[in-house]
Amino acid sequence: MNIHEYQGKQVLKQYGVAVPEGKVAFTVEEAVEAAQSLGSAVCVVKAQIHAGGRGKAGGVKVAKSVDEVRAYAQELLGKVLVTHQTGPEGKEIKRLLIEEGCDIQKEYYIGVVIDRATGKVVIMASEEGGTEIEEVAEKTPEKIFREAVDPAVGLQAFQARKLAYAINIPTKLVNKAAQFMLSLYKAFVEKDCSIAEINPLVVTGDGQVMALDAKLNFDSNALFRHPEILELRDLEEEDEKEIEASKFDLSYIALDGNIGCMVNGAGLAMATMDIIKYYGGEPANFLDVGGGATTEKVTEAFKIILSDPNVKGIFINIFGGIMRCDVIANGVVEAAKQIGLDRPLVVRLEGTNVDLGKQILAESGLNIVAADSMADGAQKIVALV
Ligand code: ADP
Ligand code: MG
Repeated sequence: MNIHEYQGKQVLKQYGVAVPEGKVAFTVEEAVEAAQSLGSAVCVVKAQIHAGGRGKAGGVKVAKSVDEVRAYAQELLGKVLVTHQTGPEGKEIKRLLIEEGCDIQKEYYIGVVIDRATGKVVIMASEEGGTEIEEVAEKTPEKIFREAVDPAVGLQAFQARKLAYAINIPTKLVNKAAQFMLSLYKAFVEKDCSIAEINPLVVTGDGQVMALDAKLNFDSNALFRHPEILELRDLEEEDEKEIEASKFDLSYIALDGNIGCMVNGAGLAMATMDIIKYYGGEPANFLDVGGGATTEKVTEAFKIILSDPNVKGIFINIFGGIMRCDVIANGVVEAAKQIGLDRPLVVRLEGTNVDLGKQILAESGLNIVAADSMADGAQKIVALV
């Protein structure tokens, strides 16, 4: 789960990570009040959307007076911001962070991530802050330093200092920077983050080390033990279809293509997306209906796929182990009855109750193309779309 920058900064502040003073604003009036109460000569008006790259896209404005804050708030609220992370459709700005302006001396990068190869938390640091780390990794990978953390003892002060020296933090601020990393690491572990990215971390004119940006992601599987984090969820930032799917406990991820997929099992779902791409198609979603899905759940899953206007055809690929093929067939027929099936549908069924499943589909009167194998089905749906 993703949260906004201002929320991330509040979480980090609880762990002693230094962040600028700031306030969230939902309206122009709130933005003005926030600026007045901050009493800072320079304020920064920052668009709060679940995407980075706001600075380059005009979503971060430096205001030198309360009037300028008002003008920028008017300009930004309600505007659709397109950054390299939002996709071409952009995201509407509904919240702003009004923050005290910071006297930046230099920008750095600190990221806390999980390295799946070693199964450890890794701290990444670079003196190329402010730019995208992907770009640094591509062009000047030698400027990224890493320290893997032993989970038994946690991040050690010497590791944090080593990173601070490696990225050329001014010597007299190395201890502050190290303390910053230790606090950030503690927040990461205690809150079950999957990413904590500070870009930029800055050194200021008055010798402070602070987070000017904060991107925190949380492991959804651990949210049950963090009700305070779950409260920060902003449904308006999430894909409607994904929210609908989460209500029914379906693993659904919207993608950019036009072939809707309904599959059981995450592995088969991944393989199905691969084979569609192999035959020249593009999947519109990842969907794992799970093992013990009911007809109702399958119906909802199929409705979610059909509700996506980008979907030009659907491929159902089921291997009935625990899942029964007749349950899938009934779900498809039910959903088609409720909202109609106006697009090509290719079905490949194997496994438990396969004959019954095929019979239900055949008798439904729906226009279904049967496939003998996964490859056959993928080729058929790609051709139809
Ligand atoms: P994004 O990563 O989405 O572009 P950031 O929060 O990193 O957004 O802001 C972009 C840039 O704006 C930063 O690299 C920094 O130079 C500047 N900036 C952000 N917040 C402040 C602030 N409080 N004071 C001064 N400059 C800021
Ligand atoms: Mg940033």
